Amino acid sequence: MSLIPSLDALPHVDLLDGPTLIQRLTRIEEHLGLAARGIRLFAKRDDTMSLGGGGNKLRKLEYHLGHARRIGADTLISTGGLQSNHARLTAAAAAKHGFACELFLSRMVPKDGIDYEANGNVLLDDLFGAKPLLLARGENGMAVAEARTAALAREGRKALVIPLGGSTPTGALGYTRCAREIAQQETTMDLRFDRVVVPNGSSGTQAGLVAGYVAMGRDPSVVRGYSVLADAAKARQSTVTFANETLGLLSLPPTVAGDDVHIDATQLGDGYGVATDAMKAAVRLAASREGLLLDPVYSGKAFAGLLGALRDGSVRDGETVLFVVTGGAPGLFAYREDMAS
Ligand SMILES: *Cc1c(COP(=O)(O)O)cnc(C)c1O
Repeated sequence: MSLIPSLDALPHVDLLDGPTLIQRLTRIEEHLGLAARGIRLFAKRDDTMSLGGGGNKLRKLEYHLGHARRIGADTLISTGGLQSNHARLTAAAAAKHGFACELFLSRMVPKDGIDYEANGNVLLDDLFGAKPLLLARGENGMAVAEARTAALAREGRKALVIPLGGSTPTGALGYTRCAREIAQQETTMDLRFDRVVVPNGSSGTQAGLVAGYVAMGRDPSVVRGYSVLADAAKARQSTVTFANETLGLLSLPPTVAGDDVHIDATQLGDGYGVATDAMKAAVRLAASREGLLLDPVYSGKAFAGLLGALRDGSVRDGETVLFVVTGGAPGLFAYREDMAS
């Protein structure tokens, strides 16, 4: 029996190498004394993909590139913050599949300096051959992208604009596919995850997973998002909307309600891309006890939230937990000053 068969009818370009690994974080389990409580902690390694350094955006880009092919586009345009992982992976996917790539980046984070402005993802965008353009303060990335698309059209070219973070219902399909992959891995591993933890930035990742759980007839509240960009109400709203629109693409009814979407905004700190002490400690713990690289903007804050929930008993005895490692390690080099001990 195939799960979510309607998913396979939608245009898709392979950017992954197959299912990503699920690994047990035994040294962190020991550190937190989880065995005595019957709690098992696993990581889904969505940071390990051979293309462009990997990360969650590649799953969304599989469907965006499918759409780009279908409409005959020759150029991919996207927007984001200066250190956008999505921009970097759009550039890598474009390089691999023969699209031109233009990136309109803005100062979404109150940070400057040579590490932030020139290292990490910014360096990689350039190596992948994309044209990154830093927008002036107050300029709207989507408006600039649409204007550029119109200008290219006058030259007989065709661009696809992929919005912030690749988060559209089409992009979210990548994480609906991931929900199916997790269900297949549960069968192989002979277990069920009681809690699946992800960062929530532009919400497509959590929305796609929620849509996937609903499409498989399972409880979507298993998916727990830690917001790193918006307050809880806004993040919940956009997640519900994307999840329902994603179900629509699968010809399923829009049944996701606010109660189905768990958002915790306690790790936001002073805002998007601003380091917190809990994030730094979480990144350091994962690196020093597991050799696992998280990132300062997304996975570090989500893992900090999960560590808090494991320590304060919010994660109940006997739970089997899956943390989705969404990638973003190049960001560590942009945050050198925050991360160095
Ligand atoms: C973009 C991103 C996220 C958040 O995913 P959204 O779909 O935007 O919510 C999480 N982790 C990393 C490393 C990212 O780059």
